[in-house]
Amino acid sequence: MDYTTDVAIIGAGPSGLFMVFECGFLGYKAAVLDALPHLGGQLAALYPEKPIYDIPGHPKVLAGDLVKNLEQQAAPFAPTYLLGEPVDGLEGTPGAFTLKTASHSIHAKVVVIAGGGGMFVPRKPVGVENLERFEQNKNVVYAIRNKAALEGKTVVIAGGGDSAVDWAVELAETCAHVHVVHRRPDFRAAEETVRQMMELAESGKITIHTPYQLKALHGDDALREVVVADMDGTEKVLSASHVVCCFGLAPNPGPFAKWGLSSEGDGVERGQLAVHRPTMQTSQQGILAIGDIAGYAGKVSLILTGFAEAAVAAKQVQALINPEKKFKVQYSTSKGVPA
Ligand SMILES: Cc1cc2nc3c(=O)[nH]c(=O)nc-3n(C[C@H](O)[C@H](O)[C@H](O)COP(=O)(O)OP(=O)(O)OC[C@H]3O[C@@H](n4cnc5c(N)ncnc54)[C@H](O)[C@@H]3O)c2cc1C
Repeated sequence: MDYTTDVAIIGAGPSGLFMVFECGFLGYKAAVLDALPHLGGQLAALYPEKPIYDIPGHPKVLAGDLVKNLEQQAAPFAPTYLLGEPVDGLEGTPGAFTLKTASHSIHAKVVVIAGGGGMFVPRKPVGVENLERFEQNKNVVYAIRNKAALEGKTVVIAGGGDSAVDWAVELAETCAHVHVVHRRPDFRAAEETVRQMMELAESGKITIHTPYQLKALHGDDALREVVVADMDGTEKVLSASHVVCCFGLAPNPGPFAKWGLSSEGDGVERGQLAVHRPTMQTSQQGILAIGDIAGYAGKVSLILTGFAEAAVAAKQVQALINPEKKFKVQYSTSKGVPA
């Protein structure tokens, strides 16, 4: 299908969603495209039920609730959401771009890339017997969407980074028992959370198995046993009904490199696109980038940074679409939003 809009936003993470508001507030229509089948980017895919504490004005907000709020905040501007398909192709020239997914062509005057860490897919463990079978019935998951579903269950968490340790601590409150399986003796996670996990291990709520990794999953319809093995092949059998794999995301930079956008510049990290900070413009006229994917000297990759960058990028959207119009900061308190 063909869609025509003022601004095509690639990425429905927090930056892309707030960009809809900022564009709408200045009078520009937006379409948001995401490879994932849902809104929210990393917040929805990786930690929807975790509280975030550093969103200004929200002392504590669940990631999933922040996504809902952003969707609600964008709603008065009636964005078009095209989800579940990666954007692969870019054609055209400034003022008249066409983005392509497998089933859509989106014509836009300006493109804003809010692609975060790229199109991410969870890393899966290799060589685990029956993995696919228990993935299908959701006894093996790569992100926790519904913490309540694990209440009172015995859960194996595999991994040794922030997600694994955070979830171990959080699930220990509500699960019957939590096993943490990690192939290294050390955890690559925040010191304070590792300390909390060790305390919970001492109190018997968590059992830590290092250096072990997943080997096989057994059960009939439902998962019943998780076999883990150490580096010498010594096995242990853990009784558990669910496995949460927290191995991070497989790097998938997506199509941006082949679009000829520069990734070179002071402070630009691997996987980021270089932007001109005052305008959020990439190396190509009419293509802006915001959020985690935008790199420049002094960048701090946080959700709040993406919000501020959206406001700056919207100013540039106006400069590109209506260069004759002088930009004037407008207050939402005075202007309001469409009913
Ligand atoms: C466990 C964890 C905890 C965190 N806690 C905090 C915290 O407390 N506070 C904080 O500020 N930050 C936190 N972060 C970081 C925060 O999640 C990121 O800074 C934020 O998600 C970046 O938002 P974004 O919109 O730029 O990108 P993302 O949230 O990464 O969204 C980008 C979206 O673009 C899509 N996309 C990419 N390429 C394409 C393509 N070619 N076609 C279609 N779609 C595409 C992706 O599918 C994705 O949905 C945390 C991160 C993790 C992993």
